[in-house]
Order: sequence, then structure tokens, then C-alpha cells
Amino acid sequence: MRIKHNLLFFLCGISFSLSGAVVENCRDLSRRGRLSEAARCYEKLAVSRDPYLRAEAFWGLQRYQEANEQFRAAVKLGPKNAYYKVRWGRLLLERFNPQEAASLFEEALAIDKNHPGALLGLALVASENFENKAVELAEKAALADPTLVEARELLARLALEDNNPQKAIEECGKALAISPQALDAMAIRATMDWLNDRPDTPWLNRILAINPVYGEVYATAGRFLVLNRRYEEGVRFYRKALELNPRLWEARSELGVNLMRLGLDQEARTHLELCYTNDYRSAATVNSLRLLDSYKNFVTLKSDNTILKLHKKEVELLRPYLEAELKRAIRTYEQKYKMRLAQPVQVEVYPDHEDFVVRTLGMPGLEALGVSFGYSVAMDSPSARRPGSFHWASTVWHELSHVFVLTATRHRVPRWFTEGMAVHEETAVSPEWGDRLSPNVILAIQEKRLLPVAQLDRGFVRPTYPAQVPVSYFQAGQICDYIARQWGDEKLLDMIHSFAQLKTTPEVVEQQLGLKPEEFDRRFLAWLKAGTRKTVQSFAEWNKRLHALAQLAASAKYDEVIREGRAIRDLYPDYVEAGNVYEFLAEAYLAKNDKAAAAAELERYASIGGRNPAALKKLAALLEELDRKKDAAAALHRLNYVYPMDEELHRRLGDLCLSAGNAQGAIGEYQALLALKPLDQAAAHFSLAKAYRAANQLDQAREHLLLALEAAPGYKPAQKLLLELVH
Ligand SMILES: [Zn+2]
Repeated sequence: MRIKHNLLFFLCGISFSLSGAVVENCRDLSRRGRLSEAARCYEKLAVSRDPYLRAEAFWGLQRYQEANEQFRAAVKLGPKNAYYKVRWGRLLLERFNPQEAASLFEEALAIDKNHPGALLGLALVASENFENKAVELAEKAALADPTLVEARELLARLALEDNNPQKAIEECGKALAISPQALDAMAIRATMDWLNDRPDTPWLNRILAINPVYGEVYATAGRFLVLNRRYEEGVRFYRKALELNPRLWEARSELGVNLMRLGLDQEARTHLELCYTNDYRSAATVNSLRLLDSYKNFVTLKSDNTILKLHKKEVELLRPYLEAELKRAIRTYEQKYKMRLAQPVQVEVYPDHEDFVVRTLGMPGLEALGVSFGYSVAMDSPSARRPGSFHWASTVWHELSHVFVLTATRHRVPRWFTEGMAVHEETAVSPEWGDRLSPNVILAIQEKRLLPVAQLDRGFVRPTYPAQVPVSYFQAGQICDYIARQWGDEKLLDMIHSFAQLKTTPEVVEQQLGLKPEEFDRRFLAWLKAGTRKTVQSFAEWNKRLHALAQLAASAKYDEVIREGRAIRDLYPDYVEAGNVYEFLAEAYLAKNDKAAAAAELERYASIGGRNPAALKKLAALLEELDRKKDAAAALHRLNYVYPMDEELHRRLGDLCLSAGNAQGAIGEYQALLALKPLDQAAAHFSLAKAYRAANQLDQAREHLLLALEAAPGYKPAQKLLLELVH
């Protein structure tokens, strides 16, 4: 048994090396762009008796289904052949099935734990999600087979994604030392020239001399331009890729996706449909087509400087709030950034988070809430998120900041800086907005995991620990806060202009701040640590005592809750998430009937950025009882920025506005109430009529009284008011 098995394996080895040469021959032809000769070569191979060769042949002929079947047959015949599994995995990876591809690579590694192709395969799978282990795996593959060009090429690509040009050049050099015809290494080098605004790259001619239809070089550049948020240029390069080779479906799909990002939906659809009918059905292609179809459910609203795309089911409710906030942000930024936008900003708001996700496919970073593509922005609707978890208005300001910074720099700005500016702006609108000091950030400070400014971009693209992306957002925001404090807001503007000239982060820090990047890091960290020292030092203690506090609250030991809560609250005042001290304290005070103290705790909670709708509504009710109506209205007003899908909110806020003599505010809130289609239509119309009367808009008042009576003909108060208004 054992001998037979070994013999079979041995024979497989011989036939493999012979067949390998035949396949390599066909592949070489296609690598050189001699596509019809390559096709003939594969056709010959397709009638081979060896299922593995047939698999490669069908793959080369783009008959993927048959290739898949033949790989299955080949693996059945040679279950111990790791190479077959690797090749089959690569086919599946190319055909949008990374999960099964990864299993095949794992199976190959179970046969040969250092199989370079299997390691490379897993590296490619990981690279699709910007996982850090992509780098490790590619390095292992390169080590296992020092002649593996593709591993070096992948390392070069990953380095460039991480904004590490030196390493990218190094890896390209290694690839080209192994094979002077390493096309993808040359494509990376050409891309680097284009990214640096050097259009006449010598690498292009070298590539085209080997393969005159190698559109992939432009597609590679397109991908990197898009990763660097240079969408229009990316689109231009994808077009060039298709001019060289119209059958580059991946490039065509990316072209479609990015045309959509620029708002060119019709042309996008043409390209995406072409991909689809040619059997290129990647997730991005299929989902983008589905999203285009769903646009029929959206309403487009234009003003002089805004274009809003809202879902028809929430357009009435959201329009006034969003439009007002957009205009306020544009007005503020035009002054702050000393520039005027050349065209209206388009903002799309998605009630279905999955639709929004389609807009960010293929982009690195955390689960986003909004994204900006230059003059167009896509974001979640507040209805897409758990109430209280999403501050839509701060997202609007965040994304609008991107619109300005991207425009001012012609999209030539490192990720850390544009994110840092956007986070800085959120807090600049209101200290309640923006991100709090989170437990993840505290741990990152404790464990000295913040990145030097010159490397901060890497923390956004390829995290080395799970929370690194949000931590990097926070750090970048703090860096911009620090610069604004030490050098003034103007300095941030100067930095924007330096980045626009394609200066690197170390250059900009040195020229604009007069410091070596290392010195800047030292000073910034000292400043950050000074501001967070107390919380960072007490975090472990706070954490322990908070758990005990929760127990006390659960057992209704209110005196102890109050004593302990007050003792630990200010150890970590930024904590306003679930199970925070403020809410425990408020609950305990209420149990002891101390409404003023309960309200004071919840006010503290709100002013730090607490957003739980139930807590904010409780605060408003308490303030009303304490006869602080103006503060009660302010407490409720906060909720409009968080979760406006709430009838009670608008009814109560409308009533408070009306009683405070703010008729216009009341009109807005009652209109929001009506937009939510409340059960009691008559009462809602009646309230709105009263607000209109207070604003002296009597026609509208009468109209809504009639609507109230239409809903409830016997509604006495409406009848009475109508009589008054008629006479
Ligand atoms: Zn952002």
C-alpha cells in the first residue's frame, strides 16, 4: 500500500513537470499579448487526456465552468498533488470565490506546509480585505521560493498601498532581478510615476515592448489613484486600460463602479451590464447594478449648491434637516478654507446600510458611515443604524470637510491628513460632536501603539491590531487639533496647500511646522499624554469599579450607587456608551426623587456627547418638570441630529417651541411629525395649524385645520379654531 502510493506520487511528479512546460508555453504567449496564438495553444491543450491540462486550457480560454470541472477531476485523480489544489484555488479566487479558494490553499498547505503557491494564494486572499497577514504570507511565499516573482510583485503592491514607496521600489527591484519581464512589477513602477504626476514614465515603453496590449498597467494605476481618492484620474486610467484591451473585465467593472461614484450613472450602467453579460459577475458588478436599479426609489432635490438624493420613504422627514445642515457646513467651510466650491455637492443618503456598503466596496478602512468621492458624498441614513449609535450631522460635516480638502488639493492629500481634518472639524462644530476618548484609544496609548506621523497612513489601510483603524482616526484628529492649537487654524490651511503640491508628510511637517517628524511626534505625544493622563492611569481601576457599580444599580442600592458613581465618574468622563456612570447616577437620583440632581447628571452626559435617545428624552422630561423649557427643547433638539425617526420627539419639541413662542421651530417639528405618518393625523394637523396661526400664516393654518377635520370630522378643537380663523 505504502509503496504503491509513493509510486503514484512519483509518476504524478514526472507528468507534472512535462505538462507544466506545455502550460507555461501557452501562458507565455498570453503574457506577451499574442492572444490568438495563446488561444490556439490552449485549444490544443483542451483535448489533452490529462484533466489538469484541460483545466488550464479551459481557464486560458475563459471557459471557467469547464475549467472548474476539470480541476475537480484532476484533484480526484491526484488528491495529494498540492499544485493542482493551488491552481484550482487561483481559478476560484479569480472567479469571485475567495472562501473556497482559501480552503484549497489550506488543503495544499496540509500536504506541503511550505508550498509557495499556497502561501501566495492565501496572501492574495488576505490582500483583498487589506489584512495585515497578507504581507506576512507573501514574505513566507517569497522565502519558500526565492524565484517566485509574483510574491515580490504582491509585496510591492502591498507596500504601495501602505504608502511606503521605498519598500515598493525595493520589492519591484527584487522581482525584476528574478525576471526582467516582471510586468506587474513594472506596472507598479509606472503607477508610482503617475501618482507623482510624472506622465512620461519609462516603464510604460518597457512594458509595451513585451506586451503591446497590457492594459493591466493602466488598470493598476487606476486602482491606486482610486485608493488615493483621485477618482477622476482613476476613471481616465481605467478607460486607457480598456482602449488597450477591451476584454479586461475587472478594469471595466472598476470603471463602472467609479463612474457611479462620480455620479455618471448611465455610462456606469453600460459598462457594468457589459461585464455582466460577459459573465464577469463580481460582487462589485452585481451589487452596483442592483444599486443602480434601486435608484428609482430615490428622489433628487436640487438647490443652488446642493443635490440631495433621499429615499422616497423618508424624503419628507429628512430633507429639511439635511438641507439646512449641508448649507450650514458649506457656508462655514467656504469661509474657513477660503475657497468656493465650483459645483453643487451631491449627498446620497441610504436607509439600507447594505446599499451604502456597495459604495465603499474595495476600499480599505473600518465599517464606514459615510464616504466622499470629491463632489459627491454617500452616507447612511439615521434610519439605517441603531438609534443613538449614529450622529448623522457630524457625518455630514466630516464628509463635507473631505469635499473641501480633496478639492483644495486636487485629491493629492495623504489619508491621515484628510481624515484628521474631518475628525477635527466634527468637534469644531460642537464639542458634543465627534469622537470620545474610547477604551481602544486608551489601551493604544497605554501600550504605546500610536504610529509616528510619517507612518500614520498605514494605520488606516492595513491595521496590525483590530482597533487600529478607529485609533488612527482618533490620533489623526488629535494631531490636527494639536496643530490648530499650537500654530493656529491657518497652519492647517498652509499644510493643505503643501500637500496639494504632492509633498510628503515628513516634508510638510518639516517645512510648515519647522520640526523634524520625530520631534513633532515627541511633542504631540507629550501633549496628548498630558491631556489624557488621568483617564489613562485610572482606566483599569475605573473599569473594575464600573462593573461593581452596575451590580449595585442592579440590586437597587441607590445610596451606594450615588456614592460610588460620584467617586468614579470623573476618572473617565468621556465614557458615555452603554452602561455609563451618568445614567446609573441619574437612575439612582430619580429613585430618591431628586429630579434636579438626575437632570444635572443627564445634562453632563449630553454635553459630553451621550446619545442614547431614551436618556435624552428622559432629560427633556425632567427639565420640563423643573420648568426649564428652553433647556428641555435644547435636549430634544440634539436628538434630531441623532435619530429623527421618532414621533414623540417631534410632538414634544413642537409643543415646547410653540409654548416658547418659536413658531417657525414648531412648524418644522410638526411637519416632521406629519412626515412620519402618525396614527393620530387629526391631532398632528391641528398642532401644525396652531403653529401656523402663531406665525401668522393663516392660509396654511386653515388648510391644516381642514385636513384635521377630514381625518376626524367631529374634532371639536379644530372646528372651533377654524371658526375663529374664518371670521
Ligand atoms: Zn473620512
